[in-house]
Amino acid sequence: MEKIKMQTPLVEMDGDEMTRILWQMIKEELLLPYIDLNTEYYDLGLIHRNETDDQVTVDAANATKKYGVAVKCATITPNKARMEEYNLKRMYKSPNGTIRAILDGTVFRSPIIVKGIEPCVKNWKKPITLARHAYGDIYKNTEFYIDKPGKVELVYTSEDGEEKRALVQEFHAPGVAMGMHNMDASIESFARSCFNYALDTRQDVWFGAKDTISKTYDSRFKEIFGRIFEAEFRDRFAAVGLTYFYSLIDDIVARVMKAEGGFIWACKNYDGDVMSDMVSSAFGSLAMMTSVLVSPQGYFEYEAAHGTVQRHYYRHLEGKETSTNSVATIFAWTGALRKRGELDQNRELSAFADLLEKATLQTIESGKMTKDLALITSLENPEVLNSRDFIQAVKETLNELMK
Ligand code: NAP
Ligand code: MG
Repeated sequence: MEKIKMQTPLVEMDGDEMTRILWQMIKEELLLPYIDLNTEYYDLGLIHRNETDDQVTVDAANATKKYGVAVKCATITPNKARMEEYNLKRMYKSPNGTIRAILDGTVFRSPIIVKGIEPCVKNWKKPITLARHAYGDIYKNTEFYIDKPGKVELVYTSEDGEEKRALVQEFHAPGVAMGMHNMDASIESFARSCFNYALDTRQDVWFGAKDTISKTYDSRFKEIFGRIFEAEFRDRFAAVGLTYFYSLIDDIVARVMKAEGGFIWACKNYDGDVMSDMVSSAFGSLAMMTSVLVSPQGYFEYEAAHGTVQRHYYRHLEGKETSTNSVATIFAWTGALRKRGELDQNRELSAFADLLEKATLQTIESGKMTKDLALITSLENPEVLNSRDFIQAVKETLNELMK
């Protein structure tokens, strides 16, 4: 069989620990035999980030701006323990944070649905994609503890000297106070990313905030979403039969629980932090969540939602067998390859991505899976495979489908 050609390179960001091992296996077994893989390779493994003073992360993000599509392996975000383990020159920032700061944008997370792994919520039949605003609110707050009577005020001084002042609370006894902010520009780009991604994936958008209580702050989010939808998206949504729906966050939560899925749930930063963990665990497993960063300019970076699976890696280093789930990492590759195919009008490449996803799901549905899924599956007598054997089993299914 002739290998599939790629016109434009995909930006490939390698990573750390167990996911780096899976990365190599996926390339060897599931990609290189079928595709003349054209990637621009960036090693974001912590050792190489340290060698380059983290310049490699910046270069990889800039390459994503140049080519438009990237695929990223999970990476270590260093903490104190990692400083010692890797003898680091400094405590580098999270690579995802660095990349997001350069590309700007919104992270969309969706569960991979497969027969045999049933959501806890019975009526969820289709994926719920969670879009989390990634700037501001309590993640960039200022807060303090008040230990004696006094008053807390919110003060704004404009550059030309105008002052606004409001009483937060008169404290007669100890308590806590906090200040936080957001930016119109950031909310606008969040809204655009959501609406663009909805058009791209043909899904409705639901957005919830608490504008009845927060009449200025949350109302601003509601207004901006509404304004951008009316001005730039209403007609395009109508043309393909999609809708945008705003309601109070508590009403949205109640509706989500009764819905069948198949929409994008746009969340403010904190709501997204909390609700994405609820949605992913209710759908089954963190190892079955995909994640894509979509910039307002239309750059895409695909990855798995989970981390580097450190505990499994240490077992692997001891020479012990691991049964690490590679599905979300396989889907990061297929997401990126499909998008690359779409942008280059390379139908063969997109079709291959579809087929590899199908092969992955069929393998699980036939009862072959890694340990994490075997523990939660509704299929009887699942066959638990180790990391490599699962990827091999997917390859066998893929070869069958290609016949
Ligand atoms: P993690 O790698 O997501 O793993 C947490 C636990 O979840 C694992 O120990 C494992 O449970 C289970 N798990 C996650 N993915 C799995 C998979 N593919 N197959 C089977 N089980 C899986 O999170 P972590 O251990 O908290 O973090 C490890 C490193 O990842 C950290 O250095 C962190 O900075 C980094 N991280 C990176 C990203 C990213 O690059 N996007 C995201 C999150 C974390 P059992 O051990 O019980 O089997
Ligand atoms: Mg969280």
